[in-house]
Amino acid sequence: MTNKALIVGAGGVANVVAQKCAQNSDVFGELLIASRTESKAKTIASRIKNIPVSTAKVDADKSAEVAALIKDFKPKMVLNIALPYQDLAIMDACLETGVDYLDTANYEPKDIAHFEYSWQWAYHERFKDAGIMALLGSGFDPGVTNVYTAYAKKHHFDKMDTLDIVDCNNGDHGKAFATNFNPEINIREITQNGRYFENGDWKEIPPLSIRQDISYPEVAVRGSYVLFHEELESLVKHFPEIKRARFWMTFGDEYIKHLTVLKNVGMTRIDPVKFKGVDIIPLEFLKALLPEPSTLGENYSGKTCIGCQITGQKDGKPQNYFIYNVCDHAECYKEVQGQAIAYTTGVPAMLGASLILTDKWRGKGVFNMEQLDPDPFMAEIGKWGLPWKELFGKNAELV
Ligand code: NDP
Repeated sequence: MTNKALIVGAGGVANVVAQKCAQNSDVFGELLIASRTESKAKTIASRIKNIPVSTAKVDADKSAEVAALIKDFKPKMVLNIALPYQDLAIMDACLETGVDYLDTANYEPKDIAHFEYSWQWAYHERFKDAGIMALLGSGFDPGVTNVYTAYAKKHHFDKMDTLDIVDCNNGDHGKAFATNFNPEINIREITQNGRYFENGDWKEIPPLSIRQDISYPEVAVRGSYVLFHEELESLVKHFPEIKRARFWMTFGDEYIKHLTVLKNVGMTRIDPVKFKGVDIIPLEFLKALLPEPSTLGENYSGKTCIGCQITGQKDGKPQNYFIYNVCDHAECYKEVQGQAIAYTTGVPAMLGASLILTDKWRGKGVFNMEQLDPDPFMAEIGKWGLPWKELFGKNAELV
């Protein structure tokens, strides 16, 4: 049986989600793409020929507007592919209308650069009572990395001791400075203090202060930095055996040079600054100057490699394990006119929704990806464009 789905947002990731849903037309029979700027939704819709797609304008900060759309279109589920700021308003609309919910990034308030799951986990009882499901963080990281960890635990470990999530973008988009997803969210994430988990505590470090060269299989050796990433919070909660959990991301020297200057001159600030009598938020203004992530695809070359390195015990012996995906920017562009960061986020969003719609993943309440059986997801994700590989022993020691 095919289903109607509402996609909120029309940026780089939503472009991939919509096209991937259309490829999976056994599950998705009709889409409504609703966003702040409807013309962007129309551009995405124009790329889809095999299933009916309509578009609408919505301000998803307003729960009532989203609820009205849901009542009118009657989707089986809502995929929130807008920004983390909209998570709670869209969850409220799903509660009001009794429809399942999915997103790719956890809530953060606009005026504080701080993200954590507490706000969304607080909806668990209400979703449970309403008999509906919310799936949080169904992108790549968070998302696939959570499923990789659950899969590792299920099939390769009796006990996991350390988890290092490594995220390499070895692509080149030809611009002096650009971010691969929403610039505001991306820069807020990177300019915060770093954090990792060790022996039951969170250790806080200055931004980008721990660096290591990591050799990413099939891609390159790249300088990588420890930063806080949201899946660390849910993974150490759901796998309390993990003693240390860190997240590493690659940044080129040029990127860091630009970011440092922008930060030093105040362009990454999120508090209002008076300019010619008007309040402006420097980071919002910077976003207006930077290339839209959805436009980066055309000349993007190179690959991404994202995976989980895990150490622990299996059958009384030490176990080293690395599971990863490699994705090629140019191949993504050929398929969906988007780059690999949008692709690696959009494919798992579609698959998470598909597993819910087909009842392969089902629950009442609010769930992170690692709480669900990893096997149906791992069985299908390769088919939709993100195949995975495993390494063991010495070969699995990257960090
Ligand atoms: P973009 O900035 O390209 O797109 C965001 C879209 O949301 C835009 O179409 C924007 O509209 C729309 N939007 C913003 N505010 C509202 C609103 N109030 N009402 C309706 N629509 C709104 O971002 P990306 O596509 O790059 O990222 C989308 C999401 O994916 C983000 O939450 C990001 O954090 C997440 N992400 C997750 C990853 C993962 O691996 N888990 C990796 C990368 C991204 P407009 O066009 O008018 O600006």
